[in-house]
Amino acid sequence: MANKIPRVPVREQDPAVRATNFEEVCYGYDKEEAMLEASRCLNCKKPRCVEACPVNIRIPDFISRLVAGDVESAAAIIAEDSSLPSVCGRVCPQETQCEGACILGIKGEPVAIGKLERFVGDSKPGGSGTVPNGIVRNGHKVAVIGSGPSGLACASDLAKMGYEVKIFEALHEAGGVLVYGIPEFRLPKKAVVGREIDEVRRLGVEIETDVIAGRTVTVDSLMDDEGYEAVFIGSGAGLPRFMGIDGENLNGVFSANEFLTRANLMRAYDEHYDTPIYAGRKAVIVGGGNVAMDAVRTAKRLGAEAVIVYRRSEKELPARAEEVHHAKEEGIEFRMLTNPVRILGDENGRVRGIECVEMELGEPDESGRRSPIEKEGSNFEIECDVVIMALGTSPNPLIASATDGLETTRRGCIVADEYGATSREGVFAGGDAVTGAATVILAMGAGRKAAAAIDGYIRAKER
Ligand SMILES: Cc1cc2nc3c(=O)[nH]c(=O)nc-3n(C[C@H](O)[C@H](O)[C@H](O)COP(=O)(O)OP(=O)(O)OC[C@H]3O[C@@H](n4cnc5c(N)ncnc54)[C@H](O)[C@@H]3O)c2cc1C
Repeated sequence: MANKIPRVPVREQDPAVRATNFEEVCYGYDKEEAMLEASRCLNCKKPRCVEACPVNIRIPDFISRLVAGDVESAAAIIAEDSSLPSVCGRVCPQETQCEGACILGIKGEPVAIGKLERFVGDSKPGGSGTVPNGIVRNGHKVAVIGSGPSGLACASDLAKMGYEVKIFEALHEAGGVLVYGIPEFRLPKKAVVGREIDEVRRLGVEIETDVIAGRTVTVDSLMDDEGYEAVFIGSGAGLPRFMGIDGENLNGVFSANEFLTRANLMRAYDEHYDTPIYAGRKAVIVGGGNVAMDAVRTAKRLGAEAVIVYRRSEKELPARAEEVHHAKEEGIEFRMLTNPVRILGDENGRVRGIECVEMELGEPDESGRRSPIEKEGSNFEIECDVVIMALGTSPNPLIASATDGLETTRRGCIVADEYGATSREGVFAGGDAVTGAATVILAMGAGRKAAAAIDGYIRAKER
């Protein structure tokens, strides 16, 4: 029986070697391995994996095409719902989504849906279903602010419908968190992200970098002076949070965003670039999400002894299970149920350590996770020379503050309905700018929904 086949293991770089380089950790499946893994799928009549996928990719259908060795059809099926299969196959939290719902997972190991999606995306037969030559322009212009997954997905869907689309990006490279946040060893920039962005460009989407919406251009100037009939805001949530504890201004304290941007976008780890970075001898990373895992594994690769400090227990770690597993294999130390109370400095204003307190878990809070409570008198110090704060991010208020009538929440998130419509007519928004820090697939899904809504809005005006 098909489900008696054990899950096909995926080849990875040796942990001791990869902890010293920035090359991709996981090699992925080759065609033979992918076809064997695909053959484990039971092709359920009511596929729970599809329901559990935020964009409802027809998973058993693409997998059944793979069983037949027809990668091209598998890619076309995925392309109906996802424009970033190589990215999502690598970074989606599959264990809580599609694979978490796989029936094989009840008694054994679920189908490796993420690795299969990655294989299909990487094979890219026929450019994952994009049709750059068959597009008929419809004469309407839409502006997209931000080139992360939400902006790219919105722009590519609109371009396929015939819209003239221009993306305005604040940084000097397109891709959002995919290029400035997630490290090369998890998501290769040129080979994977660059190729997905090239495909968006091949659809005719223009990307202008180094343009800060809210400063260089505004939503009003785009609509009133430059003739854009609608604007999609996909500006993400790039504003880092700090704890507000003593010592956060010392030399050697970074936000994870700054640390990762230097390492990734500005290639600080590459000797051919002169971007400075300092990971120290011992780096303490505060937090337990994907961002914390990326920062700690980057610090380790830059030569530091690297430690995670997290106030809850391992069970509550929000990071993807695979990242936690990889971090442990690479020799990262995890100090659970530990919370910083003060960063300690030396006479030169540099970090010399961090004072922490032990925690225990109480009743569940509004997030459903048991809330951490300080154990009185349990303070202790960890000696270190770098502290990296990975405590979450919020949307930057710049665009909202420069746009009249754009409603935001107390946390700075743009208020939008499920189709991305905001309180300003013709202005749509999606991704982290609306939800706060979330996931690539949700951002991509929001961009696609907004593209459909923008099309509906512009067509309705035409009538
Ligand atoms: C380090 C890190 C690791 C992560 N790991 C994972 C993971 O493993 N799996 C997962 O699913 N998710 C992960 N995430 C979350 C995921 O990357 C985000 O949810 C997703 O990228 C959000 O997409 P977005 O398009 O909304 O915003 P972003 O990707 O943030 O893109 C927004 C873009 O808008 C630009 N911008 C901002 N302001 C302006 C402006 N005023 N004018 C013009 N442009 C502007 C930004 O420069 C950026 O390029 C991670 C996030 C980080 C930071």
